[in-house]
Amino acid sequence: MADDCIFCKIRNGEIPSEILHSDDDCFVIRDINPLAPTHLLVIPNRHFAQLSELGTEPNPAFAGIFAAARAMAEREGVADSGYRLIINQGIDGGQEVMHLHMHLLGGKPLRGLGLG
Ligand code: 5GP
Ligand code: ZN
Repeated sequence: MADDCIFCKIRNGEIPSEILHSDDDCFVIRDINPLAPTHLLVIPNRHFAQLSELGTEPNPAFAGIFAAARAMAEREGVADSGYRLIINQGIDGGQEVMHLHMHLLGGKPLRGLGLG
């Protein structure tokens, strides 16, 4: 928990937001500024600012995060049509919220990586 973190505040109810899914590892919300018909954020419960804070040991929570992403893709009806998972890491990665999270985008064809 970081006091000034939007995602921690959403998780503990300080900022009202629809929680679509929640488990021991992570929770899922809709992105406030969707870039595709389905645009979800899969957010670890534990506050890590970025990947570099995870340490060197494999982190079991990450298996849960990918499992939640797969389950949410099914629920959103994009599992068969396909979807994209993105982690923006650090300044050059375009990370805006410094609580590690994974974007799940789908519901339309996503061409290329759209970088630039
Ligand atoms: P980043 O660039 O850090 O990977 O992505 C952060 C994402 O969080 C952005 O896509 C932004 O639209 C989303 N976001 C920022 N603040 C809020 C918020 O208060 N609620 C929700 N649902 N999404 C947010
Ligand atoms: Zn946080």
